[in-house]
Amino acid sequence: MKALVYEGPGKQAWTSVPDPGIADPRDVIIQVTTAAICGTDLHILAGDVPEVDPGRVLGHEAVGIVVETGSDIDDLVPGDRVLVSCISGCGRCAYCRKARYGQCRRGGWLLGHMIDGVQAEFARVPFADLSVHRLPSHLSDELAVLLADVLPTAYEVGVLNGNVRPADTVVVVGCGPIGLAVILTARLLSPARIIAIDQAEPRLEAAKRAGAEITIKPDEDPLEVVRAVTDGLGADVVIEAVGAPETFELCTRLVRPCGRLSVIGVHGKPAPLHLEDLWSRDVTITTGLVDTYSTPTLLQLVDEGRLDVGGLITHRFTFAGIGDAYRSFADPVSSGALKVMLTRGGGAAPGGELDR
Ligand SMILES: [Zn+2]
Ligand SMILES: [Zn+2]
Repeated sequence: MKALVYEGPGKQAWTSVPDPGIADPRDVIIQVTTAAICGTDLHILAGDVPEVDPGRVLGHEAVGIVVETGSDIDDLVPGDRVLVSCISGCGRCAYCRKARYGQCRRGGWLLGHMIDGVQAEFARVPFADLSVHRLPSHLSDELAVLLADVLPTAYEVGVLNGNVRPADTVVVVGCGPIGLAVILTARLLSPARIIAIDQAEPRLEAAKRAGAEITIKPDEDPLEVVRAVTDGLGADVVIEAVGAPETFELCTRLVRPCGRLSVIGVHGKPAPLHLEDLWSRDVTITTGLVDTYSTPTLLQLVDEGRLDVGGLITHRFTFAGIGDAYRSFADPVSSGALKVMLTRGGGAAPGGELDR
Protein backbone atom coordinates (compact mmCIF):
# COMPACT_ATOMS: atom_id res chain seq x y z
CA MET A 1 0.00 0.00 0.00
CA LYS A 2 0.94 3.67 -0.14
CA ALA A 3 1.39 5.83 2.96
CA LEU A 4 2.88 9.15 4.05
CA VAL A 5 6.21 8.31 5.69
CA TYR A 6 8.16 10.66 7.97
CA GLU A 7 11.81 10.57 6.92
CA GLY A 8 13.32 12.89 9.55
CA PRO A 9 12.89 16.63 10.20
CA GLY A 10 11.58 18.44 7.11
CA LYS A 11 11.25 15.27 5.03
CA GLN A 12 8.26 13.15 4.11
CA ALA A 13 7.28 10.89 1.23
CA TRP A 14 4.09 9.29 -0.11
CA THR A 15 5.58 5.90 -0.80
CA SER A 16 5.06 2.13 -0.76
CA VAL A 17 5.13 0.39 2.62
CA PRO A 18 4.07 -3.11 3.72
CA ASP A 19 0.32 -3.61 4.31
CA PRO A 20 -0.59 -3.57 8.00
CA GLY A 21 -1.78 -6.79 9.61
CA ILE A 22 -3.50 -7.81 12.83
CA ALA A 23 -0.82 -7.85 15.56
CA ASP A 24 -3.03 -8.13 18.65
CA PRO A 25 -6.47 -9.71 19.21
CA ARG A 26 -7.95 -6.26 19.93
CA ASP A 27 -6.76 -4.74 16.62
CA VAL A 28 -8.80 -3.92 13.57
CA ILE A 29 -7.52 -3.04 10.12
CA ILE A 30 -9.32 -0.23 8.36
CA GLN A 31 -9.31 1.00 4.81
CA VAL A 32 -8.92 4.74 5.27
CA THR A 33 -11.60 6.68 3.40
CA THR A 34 -10.87 10.16 4.82
CA ALA A 35 -7.90 11.42 6.83
CA ALA A 36 -6.99 14.90 8.01
CA ILE A 37 -3.72 16.74 8.46
CA CYS A 38 -3.13 18.12 11.93
CA GLY A 39 -0.92 20.90 13.26
CA THR A 40 0.74 18.17 15.30
CA ASP A 41 1.91 16.54 12.05
CA LEU A 42 3.69 19.80 11.21
CA HIS A 43 5.26 19.81 14.68
CA ILE A 44 6.55 16.27 14.01
CA LEU A 45 7.96 17.38 10.64
CA ALA A 46 9.60 20.36 12.33
CA GLY A 47 11.37 17.98 14.71
CA ASP A 48 9.39 19.17 17.76
CA VAL A 49 8.29 15.62 18.64
CA PRO A 50 11.63 13.79 18.79
CA GLU A 51 10.21 10.44 19.90
CA VAL A 52 8.76 9.96 16.40
CA ASP A 53 11.23 7.79 14.52
CA PRO A 54 12.04 8.24 10.84
CA GLY A 55 10.10 5.63 8.87
CA ARG A 56 6.88 6.28 10.79
CA VAL A 57 3.62 6.59 8.84
CA LEU A 58 2.06 9.88 9.97
CA GLY A 59 -1.55 10.74 10.76
CA HIS A 60 -3.91 10.21 13.70
CA GLU A 61 -7.24 11.52 12.37
CA ALA A 62 -9.29 9.22 10.14
CA VAL A 63 -12.55 7.68 9.14
CA GLY A 64 -12.45 4.31 7.47
CA ILE A 65 -14.11 1.00 6.72
CA VAL A 66 -13.27 -2.03 8.85
CA VAL A 67 -11.72 -4.71 6.65
CA GLU A 68 -10.38 -7.17 9.24
CA THR A 69 -10.89 -7.70 12.97
CA GLY A 70 -8.79 -9.34 15.68
CA SER A 71 -10.14 -12.37 17.52
CA ASP A 72 -11.19 -10.37 20.62
CA ILE A 73 -13.27 -7.86 18.62
CA ASP A 74 -16.87 -8.96 18.76
CA ASP A 75 -18.84 -5.77 18.14
CA LEU A 76 -17.31 -4.65 14.84
CA VAL A 77 -17.50 -6.45 11.53
CA PRO A 78 -15.92 -5.87 8.14
CA GLY A 79 -17.86 -3.17 6.33
CA ASP A 80 -18.54 -1.04 9.42
CA ARG A 81 -17.75 2.65 8.85
CA VAL A 82 -15.88 3.97 11.88
CA LEU A 83 -14.24 7.05 13.35
CA VAL A 84 -10.71 6.31 14.52
CA SER A 85 -9.88 8.26 17.67
CA CYS A 86 -6.41 9.82 17.91
CA ILE A 87 -6.10 8.18 21.34
CA SER A 88 -5.94 4.43 21.85
CA GLY A 89 -6.95 3.38 25.37
CA CYS A 90 -6.44 -0.14 26.72
CA GLY A 91 -9.38 0.35 29.11
CA ARG A 92 -7.66 -1.64 31.87
CA CYS A 93 -4.72 0.38 33.24
CA ALA A 94 -5.00 2.77 36.19
CA TYR A 95 -5.38 5.80 33.93
CA CYS A 96 -7.97 4.22 31.67
CA ARG A 97 -10.02 3.24 34.75
CA LYS A 98 -10.35 6.98 35.35
CA ALA A 99 -11.15 7.71 31.67
CA ARG A 100 -7.69 9.30 31.30
CA TYR A 101 -7.06 7.41 28.07
CA GLY A 102 -4.47 9.94 26.86
CA GLN A 103 -2.15 8.73 29.64
CA CYS A 104 -2.86 5.01 29.03
CA ARG A 105 0.11 2.90 30.12
CA ARG A 106 -0.17 0.69 27.02
CA GLY A 107 -1.78 3.11 24.61
CA GLY A 108 -2.38 6.87 24.58
CA TRP A 109 -1.35 8.74 21.46
CA LEU A 110 0.00 5.84 19.42
CA LEU A 111 -1.17 6.41 15.84
CA GLY A 112 1.25 8.40 13.73
CA HIS A 113 3.45 8.77 16.81
CA MET A 114 4.63 5.52 18.40
CA ILE A 115 3.08 3.24 15.73
CA ASP A 116 2.20 3.76 12.08
CA GLY A 117 -0.68 6.16 11.49
CA VAL A 118 -3.61 6.76 9.21
CA GLN A 119 -2.38 8.96 6.35
CA ALA A 120 -2.27 5.73 4.43
CA GLU A 121 -4.48 3.49 2.35
CA PHE A 122 -4.87 1.06 5.26
CA ALA A 123 -4.10 1.28 8.98
CA ARG A 124 -3.91 -0.98 12.01
CA VAL A 125 -5.94 0.43 14.91
CA PRO A 126 -5.04 -0.94 18.36
CA PHE A 127 -7.56 -1.43 21.22
CA ALA A 128 -10.24 -0.96 18.61
CA ASP A 129 -13.04 -2.09 20.93
CA LEU A 130 -12.54 1.20 22.83
CA SER A 131 -10.86 3.44 20.28
CA VAL A 132 -13.17 3.46 17.29
CA HIS A 133 -16.74 4.69 17.08
CA ARG A 134 -19.26 3.29 14.60
CA LEU A 135 -20.75 6.20 12.63
CA PRO A 136 -24.36 7.01 11.78
CA SER A 137 -24.85 6.59 8.04
CA HIS A 138 -25.99 10.16 7.39
CA LEU A 139 -22.93 11.81 9.02
CA SER A 140 -20.31 12.66 6.40
CA ASP A 141 -16.74 11.38 6.61
CA GLU A 142 -15.31 14.88 6.72
CA LEU A 143 -17.46 16.08 9.60
CA ALA A 144 -16.81 12.85 11.47
CA VAL A 145 -13.03 13.09 11.08
CA LEU A 146 -13.10 16.36 13.05
CA LEU A 147 -14.05 14.19 16.03
CA ALA A 148 -10.83 12.19 15.86
CA ASP A 149 -8.78 14.92 17.52
CA VAL A 150 -9.62 18.57 16.89
CA LEU A 151 -13.03 18.73 18.59
CA PRO A 152 -12.33 16.62 21.69
CA THR A 153 -8.92 18.29 22.13
CA ALA A 154 -10.39 21.79 21.93
CA TYR A 155 -13.24 20.88 24.26
CA GLU A 156 -11.41 18.78 26.87
CA VAL A 157 -7.95 20.35 26.99
CA GLY A 158 -9.06 23.93 26.27
CA VAL A 159 -12.66 24.52 27.35
CA LEU A 160 -13.17 21.96 30.12
CA ASN A 161 -9.65 22.17 31.59
CA GLY A 162 -10.05 25.95 31.48
CA ASN A 163 -13.36 25.50 33.32
CA VAL A 164 -15.28 27.90 31.09
CA ARG A 165 -18.43 28.99 32.92
CA PRO A 166 -21.50 31.05 31.99
CA ALA A 167 -20.75 34.80 31.67
CA ASP A 168 -16.98 34.29 31.50
CA THR A 169 -14.74 36.34 29.27
CA VAL A 170 -12.73 33.81 27.28
CA VAL A 171 -9.63 34.68 25.27
CA VAL A 172 -8.42 32.25 22.62
CA VAL A 173 -4.84 32.79 21.45
CA GLY A 174 -4.32 31.13 18.07
CA CYS A 175 -7.15 30.68 15.56
CA GLY A 176 -6.05 27.63 13.63
CA PRO A 177 -8.45 24.66 13.54
CA ILE A 178 -7.97 23.94 17.25
CA GLY A 179 -8.50 27.55 18.32
CA LEU A 180 -11.62 27.79 16.16
CA ALA A 181 -12.91 24.54 17.63
CA VAL A 182 -12.30 26.04 21.07
CA ILE A 183 -14.52 28.97 20.12
CA LEU A 184 -17.26 26.67 18.81
CA THR A 185 -17.23 24.36 21.83
CA ALA A 186 -16.78 27.14 24.43
CA ARG A 187 -20.08 28.58 23.21
CA LEU A 188 -21.81 25.44 24.52
CA LEU A 189 -21.11 26.85 28.02
CA SER A 190 -22.52 30.36 27.43
CA PRO A 191 -19.54 32.64 28.03
CA ALA A 192 -20.29 36.37 28.00
CA ARG A 193 -17.84 36.95 25.19
CA ILE A 194 -15.01 35.28 23.32
CA ILE A 195 -11.98 37.30 22.23
CA ALA A 196 -9.77 35.79 19.52
CA ILE A 197 -6.11 36.66 18.89
CA ASP A 198 -4.15 35.68 15.78
CA GLN A 199 -1.73 37.28 13.32
CA ALA A 200 -3.58 36.18 10.18
CA GLU A 201 -6.59 38.19 9.03
CA PRO A 202 -8.36 35.20 7.38
CA ARG A 203 -8.14 33.29 10.65
CA LEU A 204 -9.60 36.23 12.57
CA GLU A 205 -12.46 36.34 10.07
CA ALA A 206 -13.01 32.63 10.63
CA ALA A 207 -12.97 33.29 14.38
CA LYS A 208 -15.72 35.87 13.94
CA ARG A 209 -17.79 33.40 11.94
CA ALA A 210 -17.24 30.80 14.68
CA GLY A 211 -18.61 33.20 17.28
CA ALA A 212 -15.78 35.42 18.56
CA GLU A 213 -17.12 38.85 19.48
CA ILE A 214 -13.78 40.67 19.36
CA THR A 215 -10.72 39.85 17.25
CA ILE A 216 -7.25 41.28 17.80
CA LYS A 217 -3.81 40.94 16.24
CA PRO A 218 -0.91 40.46 18.69
CA ASP A 219 0.49 43.92 17.83
CA GLU A 220 -2.81 45.65 18.63
CA ASP A 221 -2.21 45.64 22.41
CA PRO A 222 -4.37 42.65 23.43
CA LEU A 223 -3.88 43.41 27.13
CA GLU A 224 -5.45 46.83 26.72
CA VAL A 225 -8.39 45.45 24.70
CA VAL A 226 -9.07 42.63 27.19
CA ARG A 227 -8.87 44.98 30.18
CA ALA A 228 -11.18 47.48 28.48
CA VAL A 229 -14.03 44.95 28.30
CA THR A 230 -13.45 43.38 31.74
CA ASP A 231 -13.35 46.42 34.05
CA GLY A 232 -9.57 46.22 34.03
CA LEU A 233 -9.54 42.69 35.45
CA GLY A 234 -8.36 40.52 32.57
CA ALA A 235 -9.88 37.34 31.16
CA ASP A 236 -11.53 34.65 33.25
CA VAL A 237 -10.16 31.97 30.95
CA VAL A 238 -7.28 32.18 28.47
CA ILE A 239 -6.68 29.29 26.11
CA GLU A 240 -3.31 28.91 24.39
CA ALA A 241 -3.70 27.17 21.02
CA VAL A 242 -0.41 27.91 19.27
CA GLY A 243 2.46 26.21 21.12
CA ALA A 244 5.07 29.00 21.12
CA PRO A 245 6.90 30.63 24.06
CA GLU A 246 5.63 34.10 23.06
CA THR A 247 1.97 33.07 22.99
CA PHE A 248 2.23 31.31 26.35
CA GLU A 249 3.79 34.43 27.86
CA LEU A 250 1.01 36.58 26.35
CA CYS A 251 -1.60 34.29 27.91
CA THR A 252 -0.07 34.66 31.37
CA ARG A 253 -0.46 38.44 31.05
CA LEU A 254 -4.08 38.30 29.84
CA VAL A 255 -5.46 36.10 32.62
CA ARG A 256 -7.01 37.80 35.65
CA PRO A 257 -6.31 36.93 39.30
CA CYS A 258 -8.13 33.66 40.11
CA GLY A 259 -8.41 32.99 36.37
CA ARG A 260 -7.53 29.87 34.43
CA LEU A 261 -5.04 29.37 31.62
CA SER A 262 -5.33 26.16 29.65
CA VAL A 263 -2.53 25.19 27.30
CA ILE A 264 -3.39 23.12 24.22
CA GLY A 265 -0.46 24.06 21.96
CA VAL A 266 2.23 21.49 21.18
CA HIS A 267 5.31 23.12 22.69
CA GLY A 268 8.69 22.14 21.30
CA LYS A 269 10.83 24.37 23.50
CA PRO A 270 10.75 25.95 26.97
CA ALA A 271 8.38 28.86 27.59
CA PRO A 272 8.98 31.60 30.19
CA LEU A 273 6.87 31.32 33.33
CA HIS A 274 6.91 34.60 35.26
CA LEU A 275 6.23 33.26 38.73
CA GLU A 276 7.46 36.57 40.13
CA ASP A 277 4.27 38.11 38.68
CA LEU A 278 1.97 35.12 38.97
CA TRP A 279 2.67 33.63 42.41
CA SER A 280 0.23 35.88 44.27
CA ARG A 281 -2.55 35.87 41.65
CA ASP A 282 -4.15 32.47 42.25
CA VAL A 283 -3.90 31.56 38.60
CA THR A 284 -4.49 27.96 37.53
CA ILE A 285 -2.46 26.73 34.56
CA THR A 286 -3.37 23.41 32.98
CA THR A 287 -1.75 21.34 30.26
CA GLY A 288 -2.99 18.20 28.66
CA LEU A 289 -3.16 15.60 25.99
CA VAL A 290 -6.72 14.80 24.99
CA ASP A 291 -8.37 11.77 26.59
CA THR A 292 -11.28 11.62 24.11
CA TYR A 293 -13.82 10.81 26.84
CA SER A 294 -16.03 13.54 25.33
CA THR A 295 -16.09 12.07 21.82
CA PRO A 296 -19.50 10.37 22.14
CA THR A 297 -21.07 13.61 23.44
CA LEU A 298 -19.51 15.72 20.68
CA LEU A 299 -20.46 13.13 18.06
CA GLN A 300 -24.07 13.40 19.19
CA LEU A 301 -23.99 17.23 19.07
CA VAL A 302 -22.51 17.26 15.57
CA ASP A 303 -24.86 14.54 14.37
CA GLU A 304 -27.90 16.45 15.67
CA GLY A 305 -26.73 19.70 14.07
CA ARG A 306 -26.24 21.43 17.42
CA LEU A 307 -22.51 21.94 16.89
CA ASP A 308 -21.89 23.40 13.44
CA VAL A 309 -18.28 22.59 12.60
CA GLY A 310 -18.39 22.42 8.81
CA GLY A 311 -16.71 25.84 8.54
CA LEU A 312 -13.47 24.32 9.82
CA ILE A 313 -13.00 22.42 6.56
CA THR A 314 -11.45 24.51 3.78
CA HIS A 315 -9.41 22.25 1.50
CA ARG A 316 -9.89 18.80 -0.01
CA PHE A 317 -7.28 16.63 -1.75
CA THR A 318 -6.94 13.00 -2.71
CA PHE A 319 -4.07 10.99 -1.26
CA ALA A 320 -2.33 11.46 -4.62
CA GLY A 321 -2.24 15.18 -3.88
CA ILE A 322 -0.94 14.85 -0.34
CA GLY A 323 2.15 16.95 -1.10
CA ASP A 324 -0.03 19.88 -2.16
CA ALA A 325 -2.27 19.26 0.84
CA TYR A 326 0.68 19.61 3.23
CA ARG A 327 1.94 22.71 1.42
CA SER A 328 -1.48 24.38 1.74
CA PHE A 329 -1.79 23.43 5.39
CA ALA A 330 1.73 24.61 6.25
CA ASP A 331 1.17 28.04 4.68
CA PRO A 332 -2.25 29.11 5.95
CA VAL A 333 -1.60 32.82 5.50
CA SER A 334 -1.51 32.49 1.71
CA SER A 335 -3.72 29.40 1.30
CA GLY A 336 -6.38 30.30 3.88
CA ALA A 337 -6.25 26.64 4.95
CA LEU A 338 -7.93 25.51 8.14
CA LYS A 339 -8.68 21.79 8.19
CA VAL A 340 -7.35 19.95 5.14
CA MET A 341 -9.07 16.71 4.11
CA LEU A 342 -7.48 13.78 2.31
CA THR A 343 -9.68 11.23 0.60
CA ARG A 344 -9.09 8.09 -1.38
CA GLY A 345 -8.89 8.95 -5.05
CA GLY A 346 -9.81 6.64 -7.90
CA GLY A 347 -6.38 6.51 -9.47
CA ALA A 348 -3.01 5.28 -8.33
CA ALA A 349 -0.98 7.69 -6.25
CA PRO A 350 2.47 8.69 -7.43
CA GLY A 351 5.38 7.97 -5.15
CA GLY A 352 8.46 10.11 -4.64
CA GLU A 353 9.82 12.64 -2.31
CA LEU A 354 7.80 15.67 -1.27
CA ASP A 355 9.28 18.86 -0.04
CA ARG A 356 7.30 20.91 2.46
ZN1 LIG B 1 -4.47 15.95 15.33
ZN1 LIG C 1 -4.90 2.08 29.52
